Amino acid sequence: MTLFQSNLYMTVSAVIQTEDLVVVVDPAWLPHEVEEIRNYTYTILNGRPLYILFTHSDYDHIIGYKAFPEAIANASEALKTKSEEGKVAVVEQIKAFDDEYYIIRGYEIAFPVVDVCAAKDGDAFVLGSTRLVFYPAPGHNDDGMFTVIEPLGLLIAGDYFSNVEFPYIYFDSALYERSILKLDDIIARHDIRLLITGHGDSTDQRAEMKRRQSDSLEYIRAMRSYILAGDQIRIDGLIANCRFPRNMRKFHKNNQLLIQKELESRLGKDDGTML
Ligand SMILES: [Zn+2]
Repeated sequence: MTLFQSNLYMTVSAVIQTEDLVVVVDPAWLPHEVEEIRNYTYTILNGRPLYILFTHSDYDHIIGYKAFPEAIANASEALKTKSEEGKVAVVEQIKAFDDEYYIIRGYEIAFPVVDVCAAKDGDAFVLGSTRLVFYPAPGHNDDGMFTVIEPLGLLIAGDYFSNVEFPYIYFDSALYERSILKLDDIIARHDIRLLITGHGDSTDQRAEMKRRQSDSLEYIRAMRSYILAGDQIRIDGLIANCRFPRNMRKFHKNNQLLIQKELESRLGKDDGTML
């Protein structure tokens, strides 16, 4: 297994090989970075079938898709069945990014066409002695997925369990919690030897995996209770020690707005009134 970390947002791409296949995960970001991943992949491929795995459809994670045109694409069913409008919006984000920085790529920008998809926990793809076991993980966005690669014991988590980012919640905080709680089940069912996150550093320490899980849960639960208490100072304090505050503050703010909305609609349902 080889990990590549982009200069942008500490985004992690992976190239994983077993005796049966090679799988590229979320190849990103800049043209020379994607090119490096591509060159490495084709150097080691050696006649094995090539797969490309997407942890979710945020644009930074699918940006390198067409640099691997013959790869068989794996993703969640939710990603596969995303609305046309949703797919176009993600492709537009990539094009806007490339326009913003005058980036020229040697490959086309497109939304992945998924060949192998997973709909529920434990769905697996098997080739020879290699097993890819999938666990849908919505919450961060609507089409995330954890993948365990056996027999290597790799857990590919996408944008969860980062040691750099607090939870970025674009879709649903309750689903986010439920997804990260799946870690316990996954650890019970598989001998996980490495947790690979979409941004930041991977870890082979079980205690560190659990710590990241509980930090994320704590962040979400504290955010809810501080919102209900109207305590903006403590809400702001939740990211007091974050790594890149000038950028991360806006994600924190958006989390607050999303959770506030969730709480308002929940309370509105409970007693028939709106906040
Ligand atoms: Zn990401």
